[in-house]
Amino acid sequence: MKKNLTCIVCPLGCHLEIEVIHGEIIVKGNKCERGKSYAEEEIKSPKRVLTTTVKIKNGKYNVVPVKTTGPIPKDYLFELLKKLADIEIEAPVPQGFKVLEKVYQEVDVVTTRSMEKREITKNIKDIKNKASNPT
Ligand code: SF4
Repeated sequence: MKKNLTCIVCPLGCHLEIEVIHGEIIVKGNKCERGKSYAEEEIKSPKRVLTTTVKIKNGKYNVVPVKTTGPIPKDYLFELLKKLADIEIEAPVPQGFKVLEKVYQEVDVVTTRSMEKREITKNIKDIKNKASNPT
């Protein structure tokens, strides 16, 4: 089996050629050992950082962006997305708020921005002011 990959470990982005011969992983094109480790992990157990959004109640917006604090197995991404689709948190929340803990080993799902509460009182006052002063 042959596979071509771009190493994403550092900005150099080496072009990697990976070949598996009788269970042995042969990597070419890497300029350092980190590239070899990356290629081997991509073959044995590929992982990705998940970024998505979750619903938020009473927030300025209806959803808030979240991400995993580290890479998780690619095979688990869809299941985690389904779990997150069923979750609704409540505003206000700070950046880094834990939405789910330890989804994979020590990896959590956290908010990537803060979300303040929707300003309902101020909006009602504005509407009342406009109604009594229609010019
Ligand atoms: S192989 Fe090494 S030098 Fe090349 S992109 Fe990967 S980490 Fe960077």
